[in-house]
Amino acid sequence: MHLMNSIEENLRHIYKTIPEDVTLVAVSKTKPVSDLLEAYKAGQRIFGENKIQEMTQKWEELPKDISWHMIGHVQTNKVKYMASYVDTIHAVDSLKLLKEINKQAIKNTRTINCFLQIKIAEEESKFGLNDAEAIDLLNSEEVKLLTNIKITGLMGMASFTNNTEQIKNEFKKIQSLFEKLKTDHPTLKTLSTGMSGDYILAIESGSTMVRIGSSIFGARNYSH
Ligand SMILES: *Cc1c(COP(=O)(O)O)cnc(C)c1O
Repeated sequence: MHLMNSIEENLRHIYKTIPEDVTLVAVSKTKPVSDLLEAYKAGQRIFGENKIQEMTQKWEELPKDISWHMIGHVQTNKVKYMASYVDTIHAVDSLKLLKEINKQAIKNTRTINCFLQIKIAEEESKFGLNDAEAIDLLNSEEVKLLTNIKITGLMGMASFTNNTEQIKNEFKKIQSLFEKLKTDHPTLKTLSTGMSGDYILAIESGSTMVRIGSSIFGARNYSH
């Protein structure tokens, strides 16, 4: 690990290990604005957060050319707080949420990018769609009428395990769904898979966007 290094050194290392066509989302949840600013000064412009209130606070304080990605589960009634500025919402898993994002995007006369979260982990997770549900959503007439959202990607999280084969299989599963859907849905451009512990495996399985937190900013402390 590179946790003894500065944020800038960690970032430089990661830039070197990911191909040019893979986008890095710097996951800055729980970290202070000063840490984000250090990453910003090193050239990073895309940041990921998982709480709307925290992201909005950071958005207010930081330069306006940052692209903000909401990577956490989103409650419908909170979409309005980020609709004026959020670039991409990674964990969309219902028509109801898509409709609300569209409504708030219209109010702000903008378009918001949405990724569908796909269940790929063997462990039972509360959030995410199975393949059939994702396909239904993409093909639904109701979704086609939503003018101010764009479904631009799929997002998946592999199981939390040391079993490399299993992680690989899970990434391959979402990669094949992504490849299959891309043909009929040309707006689908991004496959968001891979975190600090598994991003190399994710890239080997077609990831085009990695979400990396602790390998840039160090371990998170949730105790305070
Ligand atoms: C926290 C988080 C990450 C980053 O995790 P690290 O292991 O710190 O890189 C990526 N994706 C999601 C959805 C997260 O919640």
